Amino acid sequence: MQNLTYKILEKHLLKGKLEAGQPIEIKMDQTLTQDATGTMAYMQFEAMGVKKVKTELSVSYVDHNTLQNGFMNADDHAYLQSVASKYGIYFSKPGNGICHQVHLERFAKPGKTLIGSDSHTPTSSAMGCIAIGAGGLDVAKAMAGIGYRLTCPKVVEVKLTGTLAHGVSSKDIILKLLELLSVKGGVGKVFEYTGEGVKNLSVYQRSTITNMGAELGATTSIFPSDEVTREFLKRQQRESDYIALSADEGCHYDETVEINLDELTPLAACPNSPDAIKNVSELAGMKVDQVAIGSCTNSGYEDLMKAASILKGKKIAHNVSLVVSPGSRQVLMKLIENGTLATFVSCGARILECTCGPCIGMGQSPKSDAVSLRTFNRNFYGRSGTLSAGIYLVSPEVAAASAITGVITDPTTLEYVDEFEKEQSYIDDSLIYAPSKDSENVEIVRGPNIKPLPVNTPMDSTIDKKVVIKLPDNITTDHIAPAGAKVLPYRSNIEKLSTFVFENNKPHFDEVCKENNGGIIVAGENYGQGSSREHAALAPMYLGIKAVLTKSFARIHLANLVNFGLLPLIFTDKSDYDKIDEMDELKIEIVNSLYDSLDLIVENVTKNETYKVHAPISQEDIDILMAGGALNYIRNQQ
Ligand code: SF4
Repeated sequence: MQNLTYKILEKHLLKGKLEAGQPIEIKMDQTLTQDATGTMAYMQFEAMGVKKVKTELSVSYVDHNTLQNGFMNADDHAYLQSVASKYGIYFSKPGNGICHQVHLERFAKPGKTLIGSDSHTPTSSAMGCIAIGAGGLDVAKAMAGIGYRLTCPKVVEVKLTGTLAHGVSSKDIILKLLELLSVKGGVGKVFEYTGEGVKNLSVYQRSTITNMGAELGATTSIFPSDEVTREFLKRQQRESDYIALSADEGCHYDETVEINLDELTPLAACPNSPDAIKNVSELAGMKVDQVAIGSCTNSGYEDLMKAASILKGKKIAHNVSLVVSPGSRQVLMKLIENGTLATFVSCGARILECTCGPCIGMGQSPKSDAVSLRTFNRNFYGRSGTLSAGIYLVSPEVAAASAITGVITDPTTLEYVDEFEKEQSYIDDSLIYAPSKDSENVEIVRGPNIKPLPVNTPMDSTIDKKVVIKLPDNITTDHIAPAGAKVLPYRSNIEKLSTFVFENNKPHFDEVCKENNGGIIVAGENYGQGSSREHAALAPMYLGIKAVLTKSFARIHLANLVNFGLLPLIFTDKSDYDKIDEMDELKIEIVNSLYDSLDLIVENVTKNETYKVHAPISQEDIDILMAGGALNYIRNQQ
């Protein structure tokens, strides 16, 4: 008797034993990349010298950076399109939609494995597959046919009973879990949804939940593949991809959480963390400046139809700016076809492209001190582009209701129609380009924004560096390597990107690193949470950071540090964190000791103290670190 997660993992197991906490390696059937992480992933793939991708399907999406204010983004897009054509990868053009929405609609298949260089790749697990977010190098490795190494996860059953009430959304299910478990509550775990309540959720609703499972820090989340899945695939004209998949009756789960959907009420994640949850009724009446409906969390057909039902025949409040970004061109076309787009335009909404847009700070930054209601998944400090703005994460229903009243509004008492076709059926793949059949003759386009890939040097036997920055708990990859319109154009130019590292925590961090010939980072709990961007390891590596010493790490960032040859260490006694100050000189002896033991001693030369630390890595990680990162390691093996 097996749970669904282990059923799929077993079918893809290359190395190791399916036992929670054990290292395993699995085969990846599909890969996806987006433009902000894709350029680096494909440069790494090129460096591996493989002629063609070895996956069943690989797709390169352009959705993050489409502003094209300057030649840089356009250079990146041209590079991505030519690389895809040459190496056997499908290319989804800018305007075709957000990677996770398009992948869910057009490519995700029950029972398969998918790895994507974006932390919200688990969105596709709504389809009954194992979809995992990772750094670009891990995706490049998967494209080269190399298995993906991970810690075998614990499986948490999330048992759903009952039915969502009018005005309550699947967003509220995942916000409830975040309230119960926090942004660290899912580390090392897969959340598997079961129970009668599952049947009442459409694939789009399920995908909101699997999408934001990333905010729990989970490896992934998964729903069974059932009649609802079949119907979704049928509407997408790919019913032949359907297979029924579910957990065996009476199978083992490591933990169980029960949520009664009948009892749920609308919730909001308050600034600046997705787990700072309050009831919308508690916030009701707070003046709102901006409302944004979209992102890979809530931009599916059903989300936009619900929002439109509330907005129909109304006008937005004078104090509110409302923007709507559909998740895919298919959804947008369906909204045009059935007249819903007119509802949005008529109520005063501004229609944005089918891209990530404001979710990654690409335009639509709110005004100073604004209250911004967003249907997105992250509300980290500064992510909107306005440091003083407060971002509240809510459902499309709460967002739409509040856009009309101008204050935070509970939609449960509003009268509106929420009965409509649950799945959209407009199919158009004309902006998805198949790879060239004549790959030898495809020339890769490298504009001036495509800079050479920096590679680390093998690890020194002793790390003796200063603490160039000391950081608190819950530092995100947005803190380390910021996003937004100013920075995103340089994702394929690490030299330039490195000038923005920690810009909101410590201005001129890059210069501090240069003056000290690199250094060591010290941080609190959950270091590197949030986006999968490997630039958060790559740019510090470029600045000469050799080790990162924390109370704990987020999963993807930990893997990225190893991939780029930065030694990750955690305090054995967390109170030692308090004893270290910025600019203390730390000395760590490495010679052979990692192979003997992952427990090391850090000497604080400045304070004449020592601390016990632990490297949370596997045996193969040691080889990678010693080689100076995964690229060197792979090259050495070839
Ligand atoms: Fe794009 Fe935002 Fe989703 Fe990331 S979280 S893929 S930036 S919409």
